[in-house]
Amino acid sequence: MVDNPMRSCSLSKQSGDTVTYEPTTSASGAAFRQQLVEAHAIYAVEASSASQRKEIDEFFAEIGAVAQTSKLSTGRLVSYAVQTVFAELLDEIAGALYATYEHVLYVHPADEVAVDVISDICRATHSKMLPVPQCGICGKRVLFPPTMVVVNGRGSRPIIRHYCPSCTADKCRPKIKDFVRALLDADARNLKGSRQAKLVRRKSRRDMAFTIACTSRNLME
Ligand SMILES: [Zn+2]
Repeated sequence: MVDNPMRSCSLSKQSGDTVTYEPTTSASGAAFRQQLVEAHAIYAVEASSASQRKEIDEFFAEIGAVAQTSKLSTGRLVSYAVQTVFAELLDEIAGALYATYEHVLYVHPADEVAVDVISDICRATHSKMLPVPQCGICGKRVLFPPTMVVVNGRGSRPIIRHYCPSCTADKCRPKIKDFVRALLDADARNLKGSRQAKLVRRKSRRDMAFTIACTSRNLME
């Protein structure tokens, strides 16, 4: 490989984040608690052909059944981020890739530094880096944002906003309605009309994904 930008190696720092959210729903008064102890890593594999790219995609599609996955790049460098509560799974995935491919990079945890490493190798190998979600409040890139708010306005396309673990924890409120309001009020994007928003859907009781409806027609301003 030219300049050998990738070698089979592992960059390791501490692995795992702990995030605790403790809002309380107002309607029932029942508390829900979500405690995540997730480990995450990024795997970058040099693919020498289209069929190898397909093979790598299929491998991570299988991993997707037992862990969260997010594709980061495609082309000569195919990379994925994986998040799981089973930390040992991360080493097992790396082991399987090392056994199959010549050039594999295993970076954990999957933080902003790791994303920069992948981005640099993508440039060096003319691979395509895929967009990484950014926190709507602090702007930090976050591969697996714990919170998502979809804002539906009249006649405009839905706006999807993601929030990182620390901003999510910081804006936590006893009532879901106040929590979503606090996120949107702090959002760097001025979402006019979101103050009149109504929560219309929550993906699931344990999920931090909310859809709200706004009466405003000018959400993009
Ligand atoms: Zn943030």
